[in-house]
Amino acid sequence: MSVRAYIGIGSNLLNPLNQVITAFNEIGSMPKSKLIMKSSCYSSSPLGYKDQPDFINAVVLIETELSPHELLSELQKIEQLHKRERSFPNAPRTLDLDILLFGDIRLNSPKLTIPHPRMHERAFVIFPLQEIDINITIPLIGDIAKIAKELDPKIAKRITL
Ligand code: ADP
Ligand code: MG
Repeated sequence: MSVRAYIGIGSNLLNPLNQVITAFNEIGSMPKSKLIMKSSCYSSSPLGYKDQPDFINAVVLIETELSPHELLSELQKIEQLHKRERSFPNAPRTLDLDILLFGDIRLNSPKLTIPHPRMHERAFVIFPLQEIDINITIPLIGDIAKIAKELDPKIAKRITL
Protein backbone atom coordinates (compact mmCIF):
# COMPACT_ATOMS: atom_id res chain seq x y z
CA MET A 1 0.00 0.00 0.00
CA SER A 2 1.45 3.37 -0.88
CA VAL A 3 1.23 6.51 1.24
CA ARG A 4 1.55 10.17 0.27
CA ALA A 5 4.38 11.87 2.12
CA TYR A 6 5.72 15.42 2.03
CA ILE A 7 9.44 16.09 2.34
CA GLY A 8 11.02 19.44 3.18
CA ILE A 9 14.34 20.22 1.46
CA GLY A 10 16.82 22.90 2.57
CA SER A 11 20.35 23.96 1.71
CA ASN A 12 22.59 26.98 2.29
CA LEU A 13 26.05 25.81 1.22
CA LEU A 14 27.91 25.03 -2.02
CA ASN A 15 25.38 26.31 -4.56
CA PRO A 16 22.16 25.68 -2.59
CA LEU A 17 19.85 25.88 -5.60
CA ASN A 18 21.85 23.17 -7.31
CA GLN A 19 21.80 21.02 -4.15
CA VAL A 20 17.99 21.27 -3.97
CA ILE A 21 17.42 20.52 -7.65
CA THR A 22 19.75 17.50 -7.45
CA ALA A 23 17.83 16.33 -4.37
CA PHE A 24 14.56 16.38 -6.39
CA ASN A 25 16.05 13.74 -8.69
CA GLU A 26 17.58 11.69 -5.89
CA ILE A 27 14.28 11.61 -3.98
CA GLY A 28 12.59 10.46 -7.19
CA SER A 29 15.08 7.57 -7.39
CA MET A 30 14.52 6.17 -3.88
CA PRO A 31 13.33 2.54 -3.74
CA LYS A 32 9.56 1.84 -3.59
CA SER A 33 8.87 5.56 -4.09
CA LYS A 34 7.66 7.90 -6.81
CA LEU A 35 8.01 11.69 -7.04
CA ILE A 36 4.54 13.15 -7.61
CA MET A 37 4.98 16.90 -7.36
CA LYS A 38 7.55 19.52 -6.48
CA SER A 39 7.08 23.09 -5.27
CA SER A 40 8.93 26.18 -6.43
CA CYS A 41 12.13 27.05 -4.60
CA TYR A 42 12.05 29.72 -1.88
CA SER A 43 14.82 31.86 -0.46
CA SER A 44 14.97 32.83 3.24
CA SER A 45 17.34 34.26 5.82
CA PRO A 46 18.72 31.83 8.43
CA LEU A 47 16.89 31.28 11.73
CA GLY A 48 18.79 30.88 15.01
CA TYR A 49 22.45 31.14 14.07
CA LYS A 50 22.48 34.20 11.75
CA ASP A 51 26.06 34.37 10.53
CA GLN A 52 25.59 32.08 7.53
CA PRO A 53 24.31 32.26 3.93
CA ASP A 54 20.60 32.44 3.01
CA PHE A 55 18.71 29.17 2.56
CA ILE A 56 16.99 27.71 -0.45
CA ASN A 57 13.98 25.54 0.46
CA ALA A 58 11.38 23.51 -1.37
CA VAL A 59 8.87 20.73 -0.66
CA VAL A 60 8.10 17.57 -2.63
CA LEU A 61 5.19 15.17 -2.56
CA ILE A 62 6.04 11.50 -2.98
CA GLU A 63 4.12 8.25 -2.99
CA THR A 64 5.99 5.57 -1.11
CA GLU A 65 5.72 2.00 0.10
CA LEU A 66 8.58 2.56 2.56
CA SER A 67 7.81 2.74 6.29
CA PRO A 68 8.45 6.11 7.99
CA HIS A 69 11.77 4.86 9.43
CA GLU A 70 12.84 3.34 6.12
CA LEU A 71 12.06 6.67 4.46
CA LEU A 72 14.14 8.56 7.06
CA SER A 73 17.04 6.21 6.40
CA GLU A 74 16.81 6.70 2.60
CA LEU A 75 16.70 10.49 3.08
CA GLN A 76 19.76 10.35 5.34
CA LYS A 77 21.61 8.38 2.62
CA ILE A 78 20.86 11.24 0.22
CA GLU A 79 22.09 13.81 2.79
CA GLN A 80 25.32 11.80 3.00
CA LEU A 81 25.73 11.94 -0.79
CA HIS A 82 25.74 15.72 -0.34
CA LYS A 83 28.46 15.44 2.32
CA ARG A 84 26.10 16.63 5.05
CA GLU A 85 27.92 17.22 8.33
CA ARG A 86 26.10 17.47 11.65
CA SER A 87 28.07 20.07 13.60
CA PHE A 88 25.66 22.04 15.81
CA PRO A 89 21.92 22.86 15.79
CA ASN A 90 20.93 25.32 13.03
CA ALA A 91 24.42 25.10 11.49
CA PRO A 92 24.85 25.75 7.77
CA ARG A 93 24.17 22.62 5.72
CA THR A 94 24.62 21.32 2.20
CA LEU A 95 21.33 19.42 2.38
CA ASP A 96 18.63 18.88 5.00
CA LEU A 97 15.75 16.52 4.26
CA ASP A 98 12.87 16.40 6.74
CA ILE A 99 9.74 14.28 6.71
CA LEU A 100 6.93 16.81 7.15
CA LEU A 101 3.84 14.62 6.77
CA PHE A 102 3.39 10.90 6.17
CA GLY A 103 -0.21 10.12 5.23
CA ASP A 104 -2.19 11.19 8.26
CA ILE A 105 -0.05 9.37 10.80
CA ARG A 106 1.26 10.77 14.05
CA LEU A 107 4.49 9.28 15.30
CA ASN A 108 6.80 10.03 18.18
CA SER A 109 9.89 7.84 18.36
CA PRO A 110 13.39 8.80 19.54
CA LYS A 111 14.50 9.19 15.91
CA LEU A 112 11.36 10.46 14.26
CA THR A 113 8.53 12.86 15.00
CA ILE A 114 5.72 13.18 12.44
CA PRO A 115 4.24 15.66 11.66
CA HIS A 116 7.53 17.55 11.85
CA PRO A 117 7.12 19.48 15.13
CA ARG A 118 8.21 22.92 13.91
CA MET A 119 6.83 22.89 10.36
CA HIS A 120 3.86 25.17 11.05
CA GLU A 121 6.12 27.97 12.36
CA ARG A 122 8.26 28.00 9.22
CA ALA A 123 7.24 30.09 6.21
CA PHE A 124 9.84 28.26 4.08
CA VAL A 125 7.93 25.00 4.73
CA ILE A 126 4.33 26.24 4.77
CA PHE A 127 4.49 28.37 1.58
CA PRO A 128 5.88 25.63 -0.69
CA LEU A 129 3.61 23.04 0.95
CA GLN A 130 0.43 25.01 0.26
CA GLU A 131 1.60 25.52 -3.32
CA ILE A 132 1.34 21.73 -3.76
CA ASP A 133 -1.98 21.32 -1.91
CA ILE A 134 -3.96 24.20 -0.39
CA ASN A 135 -6.29 21.73 1.36
CA ILE A 136 -3.74 20.09 3.68
CA THR A 137 -4.65 19.79 7.36
CA ILE A 138 -1.74 19.23 9.72
CA PRO A 139 -2.86 16.78 12.45
CA LEU A 140 -3.43 18.62 15.77
CA ILE A 141 -2.33 21.93 14.23
CA GLY A 142 -4.88 22.96 11.63
CA ASP A 143 -5.54 23.99 8.03
CA ILE A 144 -2.55 25.08 6.01
CA ALA A 145 -4.29 28.06 4.39
CA LYS A 146 -5.04 29.53 7.80
CA ILE A 147 -1.50 28.88 9.08
CA ALA A 148 -0.01 30.49 5.94
CA LYS A 149 -2.04 33.67 6.48
CA GLU A 150 -0.41 34.15 9.87
CA LEU A 151 3.14 33.98 8.46
CA ASP A 152 5.07 36.95 7.06
CA PRO A 153 5.31 36.62 3.23
CA LYS A 154 8.58 38.62 3.26
CA ILE A 155 10.35 35.84 5.16
CA ALA A 156 10.35 33.23 2.38
CA LYS A 157 10.47 34.58 -1.16
CA ARG A 158 9.52 32.44 -4.14
CA ILE A 159 12.29 32.26 -6.71
CA THR A 160 11.36 32.40 -10.36
CA LEU A 161 13.83 30.34 -12.35
P1 ADP B 1 17.28 19.65 11.82
O1 ADP B 1 16.59 19.13 10.61
O2 ADP B 1 16.34 19.84 13.00
O3 ADP B 1 18.10 20.87 11.56
P2 ADP B 1 18.96 17.28 11.61
O4 ADP B 1 18.64 17.27 10.15
O5 ADP B 1 20.41 17.22 12.00
O6 ADP B 1 18.34 18.57 12.34
O7 ADP B 1 18.13 16.12 12.28
C1 ADP B 1 18.37 15.64 13.53
C2 ADP B 1 17.56 14.38 13.77
O8 ADP B 1 16.18 14.69 13.70
C3 ADP B 1 17.70 13.25 12.75
O9 ADP B 1 18.79 12.43 13.05
C4 ADP B 1 16.36 12.51 12.88
O10 ADP B 1 16.52 11.29 13.57
C5 ADP B 1 15.51 13.45 13.71
N1 ADP B 1 14.14 13.66 13.22
C6 ADP B 1 13.04 13.66 14.03
N2 ADP B 1 11.92 13.87 13.33
C7 ADP B 1 12.30 14.00 12.03
C8 ADP B 1 11.56 14.21 10.83
N3 ADP B 1 10.22 14.34 10.82
N4 ADP B 1 12.26 14.28 9.67
C9 ADP B 1 13.63 14.17 9.67
N5 ADP B 1 14.38 13.97 10.78
C10 ADP B 1 13.71 13.88 11.96
MG1 MG C 1 16.77 17.50 9.27
